[in-house]
Amino acid sequence: MRYCNKCGMPDTRPGSVFDEESVCLACRNYERRATIDWDKRNEELKQLCNKYRKDDGSYDCAIPVSGGKDSHRLVHIIKEEMNMNPLLITFGDALTKTEAGKKNYRNLGEAFNCDHILFELSIDFFRRIVRIDTEEYGEPLRFIEIGLYTVPTKLSIQLGIPLIVYGENAAYEYGTTDKETYSGLNTVLNAYKKVNEDFLLKKGISKKELNAIVPPTQEELDRVKPELIFMSYFVPWSSVTNLNVARKYGFVDLTHEWQREGCIEHFEQIDSMGYLVHLWMKYPKFGFQRVSDIASRRVREGRLSLSQAKKLIMKYDHKLDQLALKDFINVIGYTTKEFWDIVEKFWNREIFEKVDGVWKLKDPLYKDSMEDE
Ligand SMILES: [Zn+2]
Repeated sequence: MRYCNKCGMPDTRPGSVFDEESVCLACRNYERRATIDWDKRNEELKQLCNKYRKDDGSYDCAIPVSGGKDSHRLVHIIKEEMNMNPLLITFGDALTKTEAGKKNYRNLGEAFNCDHILFELSIDFFRRIVRIDTEEYGEPLRFIEIGLYTVPTKLSIQLGIPLIVYGENAAYEYGTTDKETYSGLNTVLNAYKKVNEDFLLKKGISKKELNAIVPPTQEELDRVKPELIFMSYFVPWSSVTNLNVARKYGFVDLTHEWQREGCIEHFEQIDSMGYLVHLWMKYPKFGFQRVSDIASRRVREGRLSLSQAKKLIMKYDHKLDQLALKDFINVIGYTTKEFWDIVEKFWNREIFEKVDGVWKLKDPLYKDSMEDE
């Protein structure tokens, strides 16, 4: 296991690219921000909005939102700065919502005076598909994450709304590509290729149940000619800036509700409880999870030093929050033992070894920290 010299991100992240100086592509992409003419990008965004703006009062764009801080910033830019009339679309899941998550979801429509559609899969289907994805891939919300792209896109197109605005181009920001573009339609259409239909049919899922996340048809695409854009191309995307903007509009974090284990902040991914299990399951497979993601981003943004980040990663990245686990197994229907038996088979034997019954990284980021504690 190798770690980026600048931000500490490991090379076990799927699709990660390191250069000859052992610096990851996410760091290189971040450095490039300084050379970007953001005023010009803002002008490009205005022109795109003008192209799709309607003056008959109908929705001129759709914004897929969760209700989180990024959603607040996104709606702020589109509605307040660009003066558009967006329809908000949320693809929900059946995990239990936090109080903050419920408040923020409601706040989003209210603070910005927007109409808002909530789309939820059948809970019975949700449970079955999450079980398959947990047991087969160690990735509980694999299917749901694909739906986060395809469902709002398909709905917008079926409603005849051609402009669809997403926040972050994750592939670029997390450094699995250096191709910088605002256009994300292909990303969405390709996302569905990860679904192995034949396999799911064999596992007892019906074709009808997959319908919601099947991408739009060619005929629908030809008719509406959708444009799907990532906002992170047009404005320097930062979770801390997004948080500051969101707070002004009434966004609340988890400070007074839940101190999460295995997390170093209280404002990212706070909508539901069990979702943390999905994030944590990267740990046995790749040797890192959310703390590494967040800490390395903070290092890139100059908000943490590499050594501070390393300490946080070593101290917290392996921890799975107990409340999150309780919610996940309750909703999905596992016992605690069943869950840990599933996890057991995903520990990556190349990077982990079992010491006194506990899986430990063979090459941790910061060897001395164990002794420091
Ligand atoms: Zn890096």
